[in-house]
Amino acid sequence: MKEITIQTHSRFEMIDITASVQKAVRDEKIDSGIGLVYTPHTTAAVTINENADPDVPRDILAALNCAIPLSANYLHREGNSAAHVKSSLVGASEMVIIENGSLVLGTWQSIFFCEFDGPRTRKVIIKFLA
Ligand code: ZN
Repeated sequence: MKEITIQTHSRFEMIDITASVQKAVRDEKIDSGIGLVYTPHTTAAVTINENADPDVPRDILAALNCAIPLSANYLHREGNSAAHVKSSLVGASEMVIIENGSLVLGTWQSIFFCEFDGPRTRKVIIKFLA
């Protein structure tokens, strides 16, 4: 198991963590298998999407903010229900195939850590099945 620490810098943010995950694959000497990229937080998520145009993660965050407003008739007293809802919709993990020591991702794909209630210090855990 590998752990990555991420410092987020704003309330909503998508951070490309592909290089860190690939480094973990190298460090663990995984040639072929799968990696579970998981975040143990209730107001964050992990997703795979386009890395080429930075407007794509911006649009994803904007669409989520539009669909899930910051304030509604939420009951949760901490005041961050929108972040909890986004976390459940996007999901806490992604499974990635590893072949020949490399993540199998499409040309335009990256693994993103999604912050929905930052800034905070966050963790991503990677578990390999070789
Ligand atoms: Zn909360």
